[in-house]
Amino acid sequence: MNNVTNLDLKKLKQRLASDFDNGLSQVTAKNRLRKDGYNVIKQQKSISPIGLFIDQFKDAMVIVLIFATLISGLLGEYYDGITIIIIIILNAILGFVQEFKAEKSLQALAKMTSPKATVVREGKEIKIDSSELIVGDLVVLLSGDKVPADIRLVESQNLEIDESALTGESVPVIKNANKLVESSVVSDAVNCCFMGTSVTKGKAKGVVFATGMKSAMGQVAHMIDSEGNDATPLQNRLNQLGKVLVSLCLLVSFLVVLLGIYRGEDIYKMFLAGVSLAVAAIPEGLPAIVTICLALGVQRMLKRRAIVRKLPAVETLGCATVICSDKTGTLTQNKMTVEKIYVDGKYIDVTGEGYIPSGQFLYKNSLIKNFSKISSLKTLLEIGAICNNSKLLKRGMGSLKYDLSGDPTDGALNVCSQKAKITKEKILEEHNIYTELPFDSDRKMMSVILQKNNNLRSYTKGAPDIILSRCSKILSSGSQIMLTDEKKEEIEKAISRLASQGYRTLALSYKSSVVSSQQKHVESNMVFVGLAAIFDPPRPEVFSAVAKCKSAGIKTVMITGDHKATAVSIAKQLKILPPYGKVLTGSELNQYSFSQLMDVIDDVYVFARVSPEHKLKIVKALKQKGHTVAMTGDGVNDGPAIKAADIGIAMGITGTEVTKEAASLILSDDNFATIVEAVEEGRSIYDNIRKFIRFLLSCNVGEIMTMFLAMLMGLPLPLKPIQILWINLVTDGFPALALGVEKPEGEIMKRKPRRKNQSVFSDGLDFKIFSRGIMISIITLSLFIIGYRTSEGNLEVARTMAFVSLIVTQLVHVFDCRSERKSIFEMNIFSNIYLVIAVLFSTMLMLAVIYVGPLQAVFSTVPLSLEQWLMITGVVAFPYLIQFVVVIYRIVTKKAQLSYTE
Ligand code: ATP
Repeated sequence: MNNVTNLDLKKLKQRLASDFDNGLSQVTAKNRLRKDGYNVIKQQKSISPIGLFIDQFKDAMVIVLIFATLISGLLGEYYDGITIIIIIILNAILGFVQEFKAEKSLQALAKMTSPKATVVREGKEIKIDSSELIVGDLVVLLSGDKVPADIRLVESQNLEIDESALTGESVPVIKNANKLVESSVVSDAVNCCFMGTSVTKGKAKGVVFATGMKSAMGQVAHMIDSEGNDATPLQNRLNQLGKVLVSLCLLVSFLVVLLGIYRGEDIYKMFLAGVSLAVAAIPEGLPAIVTICLALGVQRMLKRRAIVRKLPAVETLGCATVICSDKTGTLTQNKMTVEKIYVDGKYIDVTGEGYIPSGQFLYKNSLIKNFSKISSLKTLLEIGAICNNSKLLKRGMGSLKYDLSGDPTDGALNVCSQKAKITKEKILEEHNIYTELPFDSDRKMMSVILQKNNNLRSYTKGAPDIILSRCSKILSSGSQIMLTDEKKEEIEKAISRLASQGYRTLALSYKSSVVSSQQKHVESNMVFVGLAAIFDPPRPEVFSAVAKCKSAGIKTVMITGDHKATAVSIAKQLKILPPYGKVLTGSELNQYSFSQLMDVIDDVYVFARVSPEHKLKIVKALKQKGHTVAMTGDGVNDGPAIKAADIGIAMGITGTEVTKEAASLILSDDNFATIVEAVEEGRSIYDNIRKFIRFLLSCNVGEIMTMFLAMLMGLPLPLKPIQILWINLVTDGFPALALGVEKPEGEIMKRKPRRKNQSVFSDGLDFKIFSRGIMISIITLSLFIIGYRTSEGNLEVARTMAFVSLIVTQLVHVFDCRSERKSIFEMNIFSNIYLVIAVLFSTMLMLAVIYVGPLQAVFSTVPLSLEQWLMITGVVAFPYLIQFVVVIYRIVTKKAQLSYTE
């Protein structure tokens, strides 16, 4: 620990070459970073393009194919051998480009969600990537932060750290900047915090003394939970399915080979045909395309301001049946303005807009000029200014706009006090801050103790019902009087009145003589001063997002720490709370057993005045009821609920590092509407995955059935191994990829959510795959036979006909795979331009293979005549003609029905 635990601040500053007032300069930081390296324990695994390219050849089937090519070479079939090698390389390049892109975008994502730290540099507090921290950096720690490096504390207020990641000790450890210790053991170092641990309470400033591998965490090489982007459930299931398909394909290929040999075909040729068929029919490209599709979806979500931290969330999002959302900042704008104040039994209106610190105080519509008439008002505004950590910054010289740094609730009170020219700075000219008891969502209040001479006085603001229960006196026209039951009732009425108008209400109180900074003492027996009613308008986009959820079969539940009446008012405005919907408060939740909660939970739409631990109970009950739950959170204590939810969602702006780490999705704009967009994207990604699975597998079934049926019917092989390889490894890939970027279908948010464990082949997809596969094989075989007969047994002509008809059927079929609900004739062909381009490209490749001289020789093809083309078109179009007639019939009968009912 470099013996920093026993140094006083002066020596510490010298030892670490730091500046405890202004932090380091950017230049020093840059130089030190270059010298000491990044603050990371495990270097990010960088992907090597060469390694990835080599990986493409590691596939078992490709190895068999290479082996088969070698045999071709030995047998003197150089032509075949070289062509197969070229096809394998082409396939490897394709696979490499796809995987490289997918890898890169996943890595970029990992970088985006890397932890951040707040440091002081050149006098300003800024957020940087924790990996860029260096020794000597002055770091600010707040409740919910991850400790980003090993830090010796310089100042601390009620700091508690969860060191379980380092020591295994689950009880938070109290830290104190003022204690010097001799021991260098982690558990004794009460004036230090260590990388990988997290702040559960309080706040502090400290200087970095060790980073990266030199930190305590680095030295024990004890890794923090490595999150990674693990495989999604669908990927796992597809991998399993892949194994079954491989066995099936191998079996069928083996049968084809045996049948061929039995019928007297050349052993070597049949061996090559069997291997080629197996390579072609095994959908080894499927997992790669799924990854690409997921990665592309993740990028689209990023554009819609949802950052995916864990890949499985992309899939689970589409299954969400309940979204539990915080109110403040997620359903509302978090742009808070104090509009009303209640003191001395009077309601005072405050005018002004946003964060501009100018406005008036009106009582019964007349301007209050002299605060001495309502002296409690002045006290209330002073408390609002003191219990405040926000800063109001003018956007520029002469600008009328202001920006707020810090908590918006604090900001609203800060602006309100400044409207009366009361500021924290002025108050601190005569007082010192003795200590602060920071806000937390469990206590729902915060206090500041000020010192003047030897006197300590505390000021508190927080949830009104809680403050009221801790007050014994009330400030009335400037004097303290007993808080009688009558007075209490009056105040409670005022709280309900303001809250039911949708105001977020806060009570302000003080205690004139404080003898200890212990929370129990400070925040009890206080003097009640008044209420501040804060307006926080709903986000306009949330109205339609909630409606969208409703039509998508997703229930929206509001979970808030705010007052019940405020929550109900906002929930009603947003149409989250239906007339029959129930509202439960935290204290009611405490009285419910788990099974009682399960009984009512489906009827509850609003949970008010809850603490973070209630969220966990709610998630568990919903999950037990069979729901797929998305849950938002921002505070340090929301972590367990977020982890327990199927989709844990953290707030990008207001969320703490600990919550972000537990989440699978981060909203970079904290907006509820973004969750709904992510759900829509999740559903569309899953749809697209089903689309290309349907396409690729039906093509594979088609190919393998063509070969198998031909063998059963005693026909020669309808396709040469090279032709099968070409179709599968080159022409099919692009259209399949293009299916992965289909736009969401219009009614995607009008469907009910799919079940989490539902098979990817549900809703008849398996039938579609087999029926289309068989149709493809019948078309190909028919044209092979027609070609064979009409050319008087010319195999090259017959195979070219089979080759072309297989490709053309597949390229038409790909348009059919675009929707599971609409037929090929009910969609605009050009709405997925990538697919049109891919199909044109594959068509050109096919034409090249049959019309370009050298390629004809390689693929044993012949140019087709107009007559042959007409035959192919007729046979390929036949099933679609039937489909067309069915569609027209459906439309006509629907119209007839409509006119009948009219
Ligand atoms: P949500 O859970 O929807 O985000 P919330 O912000 O109201 O709602 P909390 O942050 O847990 O939830 O706040 C609970 C209550 O604590 C608020 O209703 C308010 O009365 C009080 N409160 C909120 N912020 C502060 C603060 N900075 N200082 C003092 N009291 C606060």
